[in-house]
Amino acid sequence: MKIDDLGEFGFIKRIQEECVHRKERVVLGIGDDCAVFRVSGGNVVLLTTDMLIEDIHFRRDLIPPLLLGRKSLAVSLSDIAAMGGTPGEALVSIGIPRGTDVEFLSDIYDGLREIAAEYDVNLLGGDTVTSPGKLVINVALTGEAAEDEILFRRGARPGDVIFTTGVTGLSAAGFDLTRNYREFESGAPLVNAHHDPIPHVRAGNIIASSGAANSLIDVSDGLLGDLGHICEESEVGAVIQMEKLPVAAELRDYCRKFDLKVDDFILYGGEDYVLLGTAPEINARTLEEALREQGCEFFAIGEMIDGDGIRLEHPDGEVTIPDMRGHNHFTRLNPN
Ligand code: ADP
Ligand code: MG
Repeated sequence: MKIDDLGEFGFIKRIQEECVHRKERVVLGIGDDCAVFRVSGGNVVLLTTDMLIEDIHFRRDLIPPLLLGRKSLAVSLSDIAAMGGTPGEALVSIGIPRGTDVEFLSDIYDGLREIAAEYDVNLLGGDTVTSPGKLVINVALTGEAAEDEILFRRGARPGDVIFTTGVTGLSAAGFDLTRNYREFESGAPLVNAHHDPIPHVRAGNIIASSGAANSLIDVSDGLLGDLGHICEESEVGAVIQMEKLPVAAELRDYCRKFDLKVDDFILYGGEDYVLLGTAPEINARTLEEALREQGCEFFAIGEMIDGDGIRLEHPDGEVTIPDMRGHNHFTRLNPN
């Protein structure tokens, strides 16, 4: 069998066996945004790693190196946020093709340093190797959380309100815009969302410490793809009310101008790095207030239900079952 037939998630399922030897330390291994384990002293450690490969995750001619550095850490910060944790220390490993300009690499590290300072992260090491062709950047990041506050993908219950902490679709539109070299006068928010995503660490902390939510994930694979992960892990279904999905005005204008479908971007886009979670209905208002008080956003977009899979409820009352084509390495030709 080839990896192309198995796909990213099939592969991950297959390698899960016999990975854990010290069970008492593990709160959660493979299967969520971070691994969670106990060390002596009470709190738990979160650990995540993400790799960005040239021409798969970024194009060197499209993203400025400073922003590439920022984004390399931002995606890991987002995974810590998705557990409700506080970021800690990072290791940065980089595979560099021969002949690469040192200036370009310095700019990447300037970006890494910049965002590390913003989120109070120590850069404590890494690895430098030569790469036969493409630039590769890997960031491993620790975080911390109180064990009883951590939010997993598996906690959603029927009746929960589904919420996000921001709009989706902007990043994918930014990718579309830069990749196709389109002229669009209000393109800056789209391109910024794609090149310089903001990890919702503060929102994650507020959600976790409020104790009001049941599950949480960050949107990296697309809203439907990541809601699908919550559904699968929690063994429940979901209904999204389409009229409740927030749409940025710039995205609407962009889609109008180039005759594209807004829904494709907000449902499938990916790399949004907003948080997506569920909370019992009775807690939704308190959670919204707690987030808005601290300058964060909250959008209730649907409800978890008994059963499995995701349904879309349209404004005219029609209910459809969406095509689940969230991002999956190996099974899609052009991953972003
Ligand atoms: P995210 O999009 O939040 O970074 P992924 O979908 O990449 O999460 O990964 C899902 C889970 O699978 C995580 O727990 C991750 O650590 C684990 N995982 C992914 N690739 C591997 C691998 N090669 N070996 C072990 N675990 C892996
Ligand atoms: Mg994640």
